[in-house]
Amino acid sequence: MTSLPQWQRQDAAHHLHPFSNQTELNRNGTRVISHAQGAYIFEANGHRLLDGMSGLWCCNLGYSQPRIKQAIAAQLDELPYYNTFFQCTHPRATELAAAIAHRAPAHLNKVFFTNSGSEANDSVLRLIHRYWDAKGKPQRKAVIARHNAYHGSTIGGASLGGMGFMHEQFDPLGNIHHIAQPYWFGARQDKTELDEQAFGIWAANQLEEKILELGPDKVAAFFAEPIQGAGGVIIPPDSYWPRVQQICQQYQVLLVVDEVIFGFGRTGEWFASQFYDLQADFIVFAKGITNGFIPLGGVLVSDRVTEALLSHTNDLAHGFTYSGHPVACAAALATLEILAEGHIDKVKNELSQAMRDFWLPLADHPIVGQARCKGLVGALELVRDKSSLQRFAGNGRAGTVCRDMSLQAGLVMRATGDTMIIAPPFILDRNEIKDLTERAWQALDLAQAQLK
Ligand code: PLP
Repeated sequence: MTSLPQWQRQDAAHHLHPFSNQTELNRNGTRVISHAQGAYIFEANGHRLLDGMSGLWCCNLGYSQPRIKQAIAAQLDELPYYNTFFQCTHPRATELAAAIAHRAPAHLNKVFFTNSGSEANDSVLRLIHRYWDAKGKPQRKAVIARHNAYHGSTIGGASLGGMGFMHEQFDPLGNIHHIAQPYWFGARQDKTELDEQAFGIWAANQLEEKILELGPDKVAAFFAEPIQGAGGVIIPPDSYWPRVQQICQQYQVLLVVDEVIFGFGRTGEWFASQFYDLQADFIVFAKGITNGFIPLGGVLVSDRVTEALLSHTNDLAHGFTYSGHPVACAAALATLEILAEGHIDKVKNELSQAMRDFWLPLADHPIVGQARCKGLVGALELVRDKSSLQRFAGNGRAGTVCRDMSLQAGLVMRATGDTMIIAPPFILDRNEIKDLTERAWQALDLAQAQLK
């Protein structure tokens, strides 16, 4: 039988890892996760961890869920593959498109399937070009997104994203422009004189300024996550989204809401667009749609966009071999069915409340400058000095130390710079959220001891 050292040797020799620090990986060996159960993952050395990140924000119902596995097995027997090109479909793709549209805001009724969130964002880039061509305004091609956003790793997704360390590694696509993120904690560190809501309006107005700078007749769309996830769970002030919505409407700029993380329940609504009352022209989804068990992504398209597209385009020259893969669609149908059995209401009520009751008090820890949460995501800002909000030296080192200490405390918590983030599975109960936050406190204590 293959053992942990063998896996680590093979991995070091042959596996080129996504988003992994190569020096750390060579020094410590890869962490091998060998199995999982419920909300827990197990390392090959036997160490059990409460998975505070639901995998990569995707295993929202934890790792067990026999009905999803059975749906996958049954679909492999019935129809393991067929495509949705050339006027074909199959039962699961049609059922799933209808099931998603049924749960989405009423004006979004068509679904285009992809394999991932990155492909879904790339697909939107293609569709908005087609939309503005159809509207007789082919000059509307500029796209606006935000600094520190994450929209994926394909060339389109990574260009839309606003992460400098990614842009340094390739030449981003042209005509994609980035504006400030609604990061209130960052503004406070920079000694803003605005209060939170005024800052939210200021951040939203950056969109209007960019539209005016580029020329309103040149701007196609604004891409944004409802809450920036990978960027550090940046929860916008309440004033932000209503003003952004107004600006998009005023300048007829398409609103693309990237719900790859928040779609399917993480705010306590099916879509964060419902939570924030957004009139999205596109909703991008992936991850939680299959509970992460098998790849599937896609885009919900609004009626007005669909109407223009289809009136202009007889044959959409875009698609993937696995668009609407039957096995992935079967997994997604089972996931939606389970989510509908009370999980989303549980996030909205019991779990959101538990996060407010147990996560927010982590702000009292000596190295935490702010604790924030919304629905079932949370963040902690690590600081050396609570009153000035000054960071620790080392540019992200405190986050790395805290992440490692969190693993020691039996909890997967992620670090984005010196911001700690969590997105736990919906299957936890109030006591388990409490347990999670106690482990986080322990991690903070251990980190503090190392950082001082
Ligand atoms: N958009 C957002 C908001 C994401 O968080 C991610 C992944 O984390 C993506 C897009 C990319 O999705 P994928 O990794 O499935 O391509």
